[in-house]
Amino acid sequence: MTRQQEPSFRESVDLMFNRAVALMDLPPGLEEKIRVCNATYTVRFGVRLRGEMRTFTGYRSVHSEHMEPVKGGIRYALGVNQDEVEALAALMTYKCALVEAPFGGSKGGLCIDPREYDEHELEQITRRFAYELAKRDLINPSQNVPAPDMGTGEREMAWIADQYQRMNTTDINGRACVTGKPLNAGGIAGRVEATGRGVQYALQEFFRHPEDIAAAGLTGSLDGKRVIVQGLGNVGYHAAKFLCEEDGSIVTGVIERDGALVNEQGLDVDEIRNWIMSHGGVKGFPNAEYVENGALVLEQDCDILIPAALEGVINLNNADKIKAPLIIEAANGPVTAGADQVLREKGCVIIPDMYANAGGVTVSYFEWVKNLSHIRFGRMQRRQEESRHQLVVDELEKLSAAMGNSWTLDGSFKEKYLRGAGELELVRSGLDDTMRIAYQSMREVWHGRDDVSDLRTAAYLVSIDKVASSYRAKGL
Ligand code: GLU
Repeated sequence: MTRQQEPSFRESVDLMFNRAVALMDLPPGLEEKIRVCNATYTVRFGVRLRGEMRTFTGYRSVHSEHMEPVKGGIRYALGVNQDEVEALAALMTYKCALVEAPFGGSKGGLCIDPREYDEHELEQITRRFAYELAKRDLINPSQNVPAPDMGTGEREMAWIADQYQRMNTTDINGRACVTGKPLNAGGIAGRVEATGRGVQYALQEFFRHPEDIAAAGLTGSLDGKRVIVQGLGNVGYHAAKFLCEEDGSIVTGVIERDGALVNEQGLDVDEIRNWIMSHGGVKGFPNAEYVENGALVLEQDCDILIPAALEGVINLNNADKIKAPLIIEAANGPVTAGADQVLREKGCVIIPDMYANAGGVTVSYFEWVKNLSHIRFGRMQRRQEESRHQLVVDELEKLSAAMGNSWTLDGSFKEKYLRGAGELELVRSGLDDTMRIAYQSMREVWHGRDDVSDLRTAAYLVSIDKVASSYRAKGL
């Protein structure tokens, strides 16, 4: 089959949605209401750069407002288009429902190659785009809250937050208009690496269930598992780094824009990332074999494949050649609907995007709550925790003295125990809990229903059911 026969990204998401909905008992009207995108706003605006007026095209799509605000990132990439933002907005709806982040789904994008502009130019472009969206309430703490996505990060979020606050000087909750901000501009600890962390926690949870490990034809734990990562951006880099440093996995392949690196003994993702920063690509990196046609490495033998870049990289052209028994979709939509079917028939287990990459929006939720509550995350609890711990230490020290100091408390233990959980620990444990609970809700459906044979359908069933309940509760 040729690539032309593939549906578009949005159609692909709809096909997967339809597959799940066919197993549900929803009234047809409600089914359609959930599936369709409510609205997509297109804006064309001009910015004077390098002595001439340049026109940019941007989008913000709102998929479902069953809960508000709606939530989802803003992507900067040349390929951004309406079909893509609508597909991504739909995935945000399902993702938020699955991990119980109380948001509807939205997504935005700007057709731009950010590498073509310097920092000052990007600031002008971002502020103008933010202005266009904010004046239509498409950036607003109670209606629509963007976040980083491909091509954007903390820096762009800080500009957006500042732009919104300039336009709404009396909005005391102005900071909550966007998440993924730097710590010193109202951000939260652990947001940058949150999506990669979530991928790690998702895999850790998967490997807690022997039945699921066996379904993928694997055995044992994450320790020693051979991993291939496609895309060493924010998500792929953090996921790979944590899996190597904390779970003993080995990265045997890294696929990037200009080719791939392969080494069966394992690759150092930090060294590769530094190499990319200084050389603009992976070519020439020592201690690894360089493969110019990176896409071929997707088809190499490994235990876990992590597509962490663009949508559609696993499609009808290569699906039957993929050897990985377990794929975790760190990117949104990396496997097309057609490829999904081929892989399912081969017995490959796919941990679906709406669950696998939900770590970002989960921590965004914590950041939004932090901004609205105007207090550092966990600050109150920490004070209480510290004073309770102090009582325990005092009692133990009295006991030690009464026993003639025949034993004493270790200083480093005391220091760690007395220090209550800080923001980062709270964010991590909140994210870990969220990923565990959401996985369990999916696997109950996966193993509990005869008509469900894969995690993606299970994920759709869980999330569509939640969206449907909130529409019903609203009387729609
Ligand atoms: N862009 C991320 C995603 O696709 C994060 C969205 C958010 O935090 O709102 O899930």
